[in-house]
Amino acid sequence: MDFSIDYSIRDEMRKISSKYDLDYWRQIDQKAQFPEQYWNSLAKAGLFGIVIEKKWGGMEKGFLDLCIAVQETSERYSGLGSYLYLSGSLVSSIFSKHGTEEQKTQLLPKLARGELKISIALTEELSGFDATALQTKATKLAAERHSLSGSKTFVNNADLADYLIIFARTSDVDHQGKKSSGISMFLVDAHNPAIKKRKLERLGMNFVNSFELNFLDLVVGGSTLIGEAGNAWRNIVQIFGLDRILTSASLVGTGRLALNQAADWSKKRTVFGKVIAANQGIQFPLADCAAQLEVAEALTFKAASLADQGKSYSSEAAYALLSSSTGATAATDRALQTFGGHGYYKDYNVERFWRDVRAHKVHPVSEELLLATIAERSLGLPKSY
Ligand SMILES: Cc1cc2nc3c(=O)[nH]c(=O)nc-3n(C[C@H](O)[C@H](O)[C@H](O)COP(=O)(O)OP(=O)(O)OC[C@H]3O[C@@H](n4cnc5c(N)ncnc54)[C@H](O)[C@@H]3O)c2cc1C
Repeated sequence: MDFSIDYSIRDEMRKISSKYDLDYWRQIDQKAQFPEQYWNSLAKAGLFGIVIEKKWGGMEKGFLDLCIAVQETSERYSGLGSYLYLSGSLVSSIFSKHGTEEQKTQLLPKLARGELKISIALTEELSGFDATALQTKATKLAAERHSLSGSKTFVNNADLADYLIIFARTSDVDHQGKKSSGISMFLVDAHNPAIKKRKLERLGMNFVNSFELNFLDLVVGGSTLIGEAGNAWRNIVQIFGLDRILTSASLVGTGRLALNQAADWSKKRTVFGKVIAANQGIQFPLADCAAQLEVAEALTFKAASLADQGKSYSSEAAYALLSSSTGATAATDRALQTFGGHGYYKDYNVERFWRDVRAHKVHPVSEELLLATIAERSLGLPKSY
């Protein structure tokens, strides 16, 4: 498959990323701090607008270009840190495709300039990966308003977000009196006092904080509904597919970052009178991981190109994420092993890559559900999820 790649974005990203080294990202991780300087650099270069149309102030580039930017910055020191922020630009696609003109005008220029942060509040404690079984309820009030009640969990960045996209169950009665229910998306002010937030501690991904949210009678206006009521799931599935590919790009970059660190260390570290790199027992596992990441990259680019061409890409996205998560897990684990005892200590950074990569065996979708997708869509086996 031929990929049409615009290297100017990669080069711009390379220039910026080289200013934010491993020490910078280690401190961000240790202090669980928002990487403000890095964010401002991306915003100044317009990189939050890669996939946003020019009329809204974006670059109007392809999704493959966004993947390349994410992979590049992940490989150049940030690891998965940058992905968490750049993946926010996918939110723009929700509004480009399903937003009202008012929502587009208000949000897209600000998203392109990096002036807005919007978090996704979908997951609930009781439904887990079976997201369409969510219980949060939106009750219709007069004047197109809704009252939202429910709870959400594992919501990234809910402390710094300007808005949350809350998924809730709505019900409707048609002109024949027939009742139907579906899932709808609401754009909600993240600082609304009706939303109670509880911070959750986790293993890694400390570049953003994670929250449980509870809300009762959270009243929102008519203009907060995104897309048609009851149709959110059909609308969002496509965007979640893109998120899988973007995650895959970041995992390839992070896996390579770990391998490069391990290779450099192995050439300098002398034990038993020779550098450890001289041992095939050190070389071969690293080379094996490098090969896995090459395959994962090709699958990621293929899935991204299909998305850009408007073709179906769900199986390819599953192949890409499964192979990049497997490859990056192997690469970060092998890097830690190559560093020996040093690898277990924070000064050497590889433990951060190892912790962060582990999240992506369960997020945005688990390994099991990727396998179930492949079994169903590529092998014609019964749907098991
Ligand atoms: C780092 C991180 C960031 C996140 N950020 C957000 C966010 O910003 N917003 C948000 O809404 N959510 C977020 N999530 C939630 C995430 O997308 C998942 O929905 C969540 O992790 C599901 O976890 P669970 O414990 O409920 O899994 P469960 O649904 O309880 O599943 C438990 C295990 O059972 C397996 N399993 C379930 N069904 C099947 C089946 N049919 N076949 C085989 N295996 C099966 C699963 O694969 C999993 O291994 C985040 C999660 C993480 C870890």
